Amino acid sequence: MVRDGRPTAVWWTAVVTQPSNRHAPLRTCVGCRQRAARGELLRVVARSGFDGQDDSWYVAPDPAGSAPGRGAHLHPTDTCLARAERSRAFVRALRHDAGARGPLHLQRLRDHLAAAAAPRPNENGSISS
Ligand SMILES: [Zn+2]
Repeated sequence: MVRDGRPTAVWWTAVVTQPSNRHAPLRTCVGCRQRAARGELLRVVARSGFDGQDDSWYVAPDPAGSAPGRGAHLHPTDTCLARAERSRAFVRALRHDAGARGPLHLQRLRDHLAAAAAPRPNENGSISS
């Protein structure tokens, strides 16, 4: 009872949407300087209030990518974090005036990466929800 000679529904093809990653914006990782789709990188912003001190600044993870202000992007890995730290990439990318504001603390970001890295079943698989 298989009907092979079905007329093709031509109008369907116009409705089919393109894969969403086709136009995914690329961002540059401040650690390895490689470009990757925005979804693969973690956005970070500079915030004040580290340790409850208003004049103490830190790099805050912004997984939702919605925090106001200048952001930087980073592969959420220890390797890229270490590279960015060594090259002072956060200070530059976030336009942080270390002379006036003091250093950018990275502990919050480290904690975030440590927590995010733990339950990760598939290292290079895409996260589909
Ligand atoms: Zn990277």
